[in-house]
Amino acid sequence: MEHQHKKHSEHQNHSHHNHHTHQGHEHQGYGQHGGNPPHGHAHHDHHKMMIEDFKKRFWVSLVISIPVLVLSPMIQDFMGFELVFNGNLYVLFALSSLAFFYGGWPFLKGLKDEVKKGALGMMTLIAVAITVAYAYSTAVVFGLEGKMFFWELVTLIDIMLVGHWIEMKSVLGASKALELLVSMMPSEAYRISGDGSVEKVKLDELQKGDHIQVKPGAQIPADGLIFKGESHLNESMLTGESKPVKKREGDTVIGGAINGNGTLRIEVKGAGKDSYLNKVITMVREAQKTKSKTQNLADRAAKWLTYIALTVGFGTLVVWIALGFDFVYALERMVTVMIISCPHALGLAVPLVVAISTTISAQNGLLIRNRTAFENSRRISIIVFDKTGTLTQGSHEVIRIVPLQDGINERELLRLATAVEQYSEHHIAKGLLRKAKSEGISIPHAEDFKYEPGIGVSAIVEGQKIEAGGNGILKKINRSDTEYTDSSAETKVFFLSNGEIIGFVSFADQIRKASFGAIKTLHKNNIKTLLLTGDSEDVAQDVANRLAMNKFMANVLPHEKQEKLRELQAQGEFVAMAGDGVNDAPALAQADVGIAVGSGADIAAETADIILVNSDPQDIVNLILFGKVTYRKMIQNLIWALGYNVLTIPLAAGVLYSYGFVLEPAIGAIFMILSTIIVALNAQILKNKIKKSQINI
Ligand code: ADP
Ligand code: MG
Repeated sequence: MEHQHKKHSEHQNHSHHNHHTHQGHEHQGYGQHGGNPPHGHAHHDHHKMMIEDFKKRFWVSLVISIPVLVLSPMIQDFMGFELVFNGNLYVLFALSSLAFFYGGWPFLKGLKDEVKKGALGMMTLIAVAITVAYAYSTAVVFGLEGKMFFWELVTLIDIMLVGHWIEMKSVLGASKALELLVSMMPSEAYRISGDGSVEKVKLDELQKGDHIQVKPGAQIPADGLIFKGESHLNESMLTGESKPVKKREGDTVIGGAINGNGTLRIEVKGAGKDSYLNKVITMVREAQKTKSKTQNLADRAAKWLTYIALTVGFGTLVVWIALGFDFVYALERMVTVMIISCPHALGLAVPLVVAISTTISAQNGLLIRNRTAFENSRRISIIVFDKTGTLTQGSHEVIRIVPLQDGINERELLRLATAVEQYSEHHIAKGLLRKAKSEGISIPHAEDFKYEPGIGVSAIVEGQKIEAGGNGILKKINRSDTEYTDSSAETKVFFLSNGEIIGFVSFADQIRKASFGAIKTLHKNNIKTLLLTGDSEDVAQDVANRLAMNKFMANVLPHEKQEKLRELQAQGEFVAMAGDGVNDAPALAQADVGIAVGSGADIAAETADIILVNSDPQDIVNLILFGKVTYRKMIQNLIWALGYNVLTIPLAAGVLYSYGFVLEPAIGAIFMILSTIIVALNAQILKNKIKKSQINI
């Protein structure tokens, strides 16, 4: 599922495992955006293990901290008691060493990994800070003139450990939504064997073509076609549509949906890896792995922050000593600077939002394949719509069958028409075949089927070359559909036999109800709308008028759609394209934001940045809104994370010393962790933002 490479370079941000996400966090894979794609439960478990590890180290360190505090001369002084015994300093040293090596281990190991990778980050900062503090205090125990730093060291370690513990829990929460998608597939299925008996099988034993039975209330284990039974299915986790959908014989079902009140027998069309749900999950994972521009910005900022912190940290040490302060005092300031400037919040600011937003979108029927495009949806100034299947239902009911040649009656025209249309996926073809079926027509054999996107189809039927299409096909024989205009705005498809017109069939296609509201909302938000269709002038005008769209163009060929988009872009427009068909693929790829609507052609989905599962034009509005909200959250988080550092670094360095304000390392650590938690909580708020009811841009 590689992205289609696009004209705009910003669309091609594929990360290659650099894992800057956590800015050199040692704990790769803590986040769901780790280098290697996480795989389901294994990843989940690893994550949980790391959380347990931090938790254990925290509690142990905390217990060790108590005697360290009690034994520290400074604390004793402060509390007004004295506990001195033979070798008390060595006990203090031993306990602190334990806390340093056991509690500080994740950070020390992180330092090693970051140095090895050449990507210094927050682990480096923490490790340098605690190591310096520990080494210096140790030297004091063994005779160096100075003050010990032990109780500050152990409390700092405690706070860092608890901070990581909490942070990882919230990251886990963010990836849970995806796990939820994964868990929607049952692990077993009931297969109907040849003799009609039903046997329980493991999900991965299911194969295409198998017949399965699904009981009321059970989850559908694979994509397929109902061949017996009817029921209401709840597909809300897949499409966001909360109302159960009625399905009966001949309807398709998606694995992961929940069966309602009826027993269904289903022929499996896609199981395991080939299932729709699996594709969605892969897509969401891919999207979470790739980096958008905003993400890259955050990563760069975090890297710089590390260098700045190291420089300012050592600079602080030098300055305070130069000012004539104790070494230990200068050291404390340095440690505080390094701790407080950990680019922790910065590292999480964007990934957390991404994890939540991509997953929630997927659950609501918006599949995001290109995150930069998604974040850019806030800039859309014009949306180009395809007509058939996008703004309209693509229902294409046959209205009239009009033979135009002697010797050909309606039934014969329909018969020849179905012969050529039987291999086409177009809504026109489907409508025609439905009609033929209801009339009981047996479809003749056809050879040499050809499809010219935007023009029509042709095939050899019973020795004659039958062609079908709109104005494009008439043009070839120097005719025009204007000869056939009448008051009705119907889609007319003309049929030629060996280059002679033999008649036409007209179709009615209903505008989707949601289209009206969607267009209106877009206009209200100063987004222009343009209709580009391969259909005739009449029909295009009718639809554009009824929807009150800004402009329309009819008889547009696929490459012309793309050219038109390029033209708009040259005029400075930020163009979105919404389309469903093969003929829309080039335009979808050209658009700044390509939106594939519904269960249309796969190729359209593959060139699009975003796929709307529900064929609901209102989802385009939702998408723009959610893109906006997501982007806003990212920026909020970035500002918070960066702003916090900008403010606290000078404080930690001691610029307010003359006003009597100096930050202790442990307080610095608390601030650092608070900022991280705020960023995480802010991202979580997104969850409530997509609830359809409250969507309104
Ligand atoms: P839209 O841009 O509205 O989605 P298309 O580009 O898919 O429309 O189709 C444009 C025109 O091409 C149709 O209006 C029709 O005239 C012709 N056409 C496409 N596919 C077929 C087909 N299978 N049979 C007949 N005509 C077709
Ligand atoms: Mg179309």
